[in-house]
Amino acid sequence: MITTQNKGTAMERINVRKSDPDLIEEVDSEEFLSGFSGCLACGTCSAGCPVRRATTSYDPLRVIRMLILGLREELLKGDMIWLCSDCYTCQENCPMGIKLTDIINHLKNLAVKEENVPIGVSTQEKLLKDQGKIYVIDEFDNKKRSKAGLPLLPTMAEQAKLLLEKRKQQPKGTERDSR
Ligand code: SF4
Ligand code: SF4
Repeated sequence: MITTQNKGTAMERINVRKSDPDLIEEVDSEEFLSGFSGCLACGTCSAGCPVRRATTSYDPLRVIRMLILGLREELLKGDMIWLCSDCYTCQENCPMGIKLTDIINHLKNLAVKEENVPIGVSTQEKLLKDQGKIYVIDEFDNKKRSKAGLPLLPTMAEQAKLLLEKRKQQPKGTERDSR
């Protein structure tokens, strides 16, 4: 029996009959992500993952095994991939050179294309578009900074807003991160 904690609740049974070989092919055909089927299931990624330490709802090894099994729906419709904090620890530690963080980011992009974005993430996106930053600096924060002898901070991040606007205007297909 294969189980997952995809929604952070009790262990759920995975139906491998739902396997979608297209997902495996789709990710594996991206040159910079390929080779994940060579995963040894050694657990090094899980051992170093800070999110894994904080919650049993998340495990990068589980993500890679689910991908190898082609569990598209569980990966792209669930919340699990969105718990990854993008710290790259797993990718740097993997003895097989598997680009785990890049793979998880790619899965997030696929989920966005399918309009499966958790509400918290879409709210953050809106805040970024509207004010150029996720956390608002208000007058109260600046008063505290002033008392502590720190310089005041602008409440809006106009430059970030402009950059986001510029990126939106780029022709489709040229906006991809070149990391
Ligand atoms: S560290 Fe790499 S090889 Fe080991 S389980 Fe994670 S992805 Fe697989
Ligand atoms: S990049 Fe994501 S999965 Fe990898 S160690 Fe960091 S939080 Fe965990």
